[in-house]
Amino acid sequence: MMVDGLLGRVIRNAARRNLAFEPVGNATGLPRPAPTRRYMLYLHVPFCPSLCPFCSFHRVGFHRNQAARYFRALTDEVALAADAGFHFEEAYIGGGTPTVLPEALAELIALLRQRYGVARVSAETNPNDLVPDVLDRLADAGIDRLSVGVQSLDDALLLQMQRREKYGDSATIRARLKAAAGRVDTLNVDMMFNFPAQTERMLDRDLELLTDDIGAAQVSWYPLMSSNPTRRAMAESIGRVSYARERAMYRRIAGHMLSRGYSRSSAWCFSKTPAMIDEYITQSDDYLGLGSGSFSLLDGTLYGSTFSIADYLQRVAGGRSGILRSRTLSERERMQYHLLVRLFAGALSLESADRSFGRPFTRTLLPEIAALRAIGAVRKVDGTLRLTESGQYLWVLLMREFFSIVNEFRERMRHESAEAIR
Ligand code: SF4
Repeated sequence: MMVDGLLGRVIRNAARRNLAFEPVGNATGLPRPAPTRRYMLYLHVPFCPSLCPFCSFHRVGFHRNQAARYFRALTDEVALAADAGFHFEEAYIGGGTPTVLPEALAELIALLRQRYGVARVSAETNPNDLVPDVLDRLADAGIDRLSVGVQSLDDALLLQMQRREKYGDSATIRARLKAAAGRVDTLNVDMMFNFPAQTERMLDRDLELLTDDIGAAQVSWYPLMSSNPTRRAMAESIGRVSYARERAMYRRIAGHMLSRGYSRSSAWCFSKTPAMIDEYITQSDDYLGLGSGSFSLLDGTLYGSTFSIADYLQRVAGGRSGILRSRTLSERERMQYHLLVRLFAGALSLESADRSFGRPFTRTLLPEIAALRAIGAVRKVDGTLRLTESGQYLWVLLMREFFSIVNEFRERMRHESAEAIR
């Protein structure tokens, strides 16, 4: 649709502008925390046993010794941030595959919980690591949520995306998910939709397996994202991506999930009960990201860490954080970002936005809000903007565009750091 295309372009351009970084000036690279604030912490673990063709995350092939050194550096970087005055509320450990070294991950989680008083911890994993030994270690360390990258439960699609041999067939993955449920507070299943070869029947079967057979506590349904860096590899493995069926597929997903009693935690995440979600950016405007390739947003400034693993290890060994670049957003850009991420979670209180920005948010973003109301994407109820059902899909599209640009940026940084990614 024309409006979708136009808004997608607006988001792409805004995201590109926001990622035009400058080098940071201070010695450790760490921003200064507000003394009484408890922050969201993101920790990036970039190692994967093998690399999927559609993936644009910052990930590198797994080497045990390098990964062990990396976990030690990550622990040191957390200590550096704590010494600088950061206190943390929740921690998200993403990747890559953070469970590549389960013992090291368990130690890190235990440290976050015990030494740094982190209240909740979530980590990402893959189906191979949903085994008793790993689950026991993580549960003992105090993990609250595990997010499992499954992508599809259709054997033909798993084969096409080169995951069936690596992570098992659909029956194996389903058995593992069922066995893992109840070992952590929330088990999230990451799925993808809009694969070129995915039929409506395949999608319906995935939906039924997730809700009626596995009984997943939470499912995040990501639209397939094609960005410049992955376009060719994706076309060769899973086919050329088209967005023509995306809206209809999303409606099918939302209709099914809501009919089974799930509610939306974000436009693409459905939960049985309120729980942590992967999109921690919707919960707080400020967060600190540590580890190679992570981003932070603090007090209106975006920060980026080195994408080179060697550089990261060297920086932390020298008493510095991995953060080496930043960009301060204008007030209007901060407001636009706030609008984007809060509506991604479904609602934005105009009153509290007016309060937190110190001057009327509503007046400054009048053109954006009026346009969203005019196309029926949001409605205002008691001083709160809420996404309508058609607005939910629009937000899936906008976030897909937003992450595509972040992925392009990651790829550029990886090339600049001359890191071997295979
Ligand atoms: S999809 Fe997951 S497992 Fe595959 S390369 Fe990306 S981070 Fe690694």
